[in-house]
Amino acid sequence: MNLIERFINYTKFDTQSSEESQTVPSTPEKQMAFARYLKEELENEGLDDVEMDEMGYVYATLPSNIKKEVPTIGFIAHYDTSPDCSGANIKARIVENYDGGDIVLSEGIVSSPAKFPELLQHKGEDLIVTDGTTLLGADDKAGISEIIQAMVWLKEHPEVKHGRIRVAFNPDEEIGMGAHHFDVEKFGCEWAYTIDGGDLGDLEYENFNAAGAKVTIKGVSVHPGYAKGKMLNANIIAMEFANMMPADERPETTEGYEGFYHLLHIDSGIECAKLSYIIRDHDRQKFEDRKIFIKKVGDQLNEKYGEGTVTVDVNDQYYNMKEKIDPQMHVIDIVLHAMQECDVPPRVEPIRGGTDGAQLSFKGLPCPNIFAGGVNFHGPYEFVSCQVMEKAMNTIIKICEITAEYND
Ligand SMILES: [Zn+2]
Repeated sequence: MNLIERFINYTKFDTQSSEESQTVPSTPEKQMAFARYLKEELENEGLDDVEMDEMGYVYATLPSNIKKEVPTIGFIAHYDTSPDCSGANIKARIVENYDGGDIVLSEGIVSSPAKFPELLQHKGEDLIVTDGTTLLGADDKAGISEIIQAMVWLKEHPEVKHGRIRVAFNPDEEIGMGAHHFDVEKFGCEWAYTIDGGDLGDLEYENFNAAGAKVTIKGVSVHPGYAKGKMLNANIIAMEFANMMPADERPETTEGYEGFYHLLHIDSGIECAKLSYIIRDHDRQKFEDRKIFIKKVGDQLNEKYGEGTVTVDVNDQYYNMKEKIDPQMHVIDIVLHAMQECDVPPRVEPIRGGTDGAQLSFKGLPCPNIFAGGVNFHGPYEFVSCQVMEKAMNTIIKICEITAEYND
C-alpha cells in the first residue's frame, strides 16, 4: 500500500469524537473500530510491541537497527475527527495536477481560491478533497498515514540507520482529551513529535499559558420603589467589572504573542452575577501578572461595595510547552535540519491555543508539533496535497536518521 491509498482507506472510517460524552473514547463504537483496524495494520506491517489499551490508545515500536545507544524518540497522531463537522461517508477524491482554479466538490459546492487563497500554493500538485458534505479527516489521519508509511519505508531500507522508534495513535484530541490518558511512561521516549500541524513546513513549539477565572458577584435585592441606598445590583457591578478589564486585550483585538482576557459567559441577576473568563499569554510572567490583575479588579470593587461582594477564583489550565523545549533545543534543531534536507521551508509560529503536545510536554515528554499537510480543517473544504504528505513522511524518516547521528 502506498501513502495515499493508506490515507484514503482511513477516511472511510467515521471517527468523529463528541464533547457531550463521558466515556473514553468519547465515541467508542466509532473510534474503537478504527483503533482495532490500526492495530491490525501495524501488526501486518511487522512492527513490534503492537498494543491497544481499553481506551483505544495504540502503541507500537520500530526496533533500532544499530548497535550504539541513541535516544528513543516517538511520533504521535490522533485518529478522531472534529465534532464540528460530519465525518460519516467521506468521499475522498484526488484532483490531479490542480490548475489553480475552482474545484467543484459536488453540484453547487465549490472550493475556490477566491475564498481559500491557500489553494494557490498547491498549483500543480495532486489534492485530495471531499464531496463538500463532510470534512476530510486529514486532521489527523494524514499524520497517521505519514507516520506508518515512514516506519514501513525504514523497515524496507535497513541501510538507513536509526534508533528505537515508538509510534502512538490516540482518540479524542479534538475534544481536548487526547493527552489525558496517554501513557508517557509506557511510551518510553526521550522526546516525541505530534504530526498534527497544517500546511507544508508548520513547526510549533510555543503555545499559550492558560487559566480560567470565575467571578461571582453578590448583590442585595430590595423592592425598586424603596431601594435607595439599600440595593446592590449585581447586574450593574458585573458590567462595571467587565468595563475595568482592558478593552485592547481581548481575542478580537490581539494577535501573535499578544495575550488576552476573554469574557466567555455572563449569567446575571440582581442578587447574583457570574462571569466566566479565560486568560491567555505566551509569556509566563505576563500570564502570572494577568491573574493578579483580574483579582485586583475584584479587590477594588470590594473596597467600593463591601468585602465579599466580588470573589475571583482563578484556575490554571495548561502551560506553554516552550518552557520544557527551551532546555532541549536539539528537539527543534533536529526537525529544522530534517526539513532542510527534505527541501521543506520551515514555518515556525506560536500557537494561539493549546495542543496535546503541550500537555505531554508537562507530563515529561517534550513534544513539538509538525505539519501533516491538512488545510481548512474541521469543515467540508478541508483538503490535503499528496506532495505535502510525501514531504511530511520524508521529514519523519530524516528525523529518525539525524537522531541516530545526534551524539556523534
Ligand atoms: Zn488535529
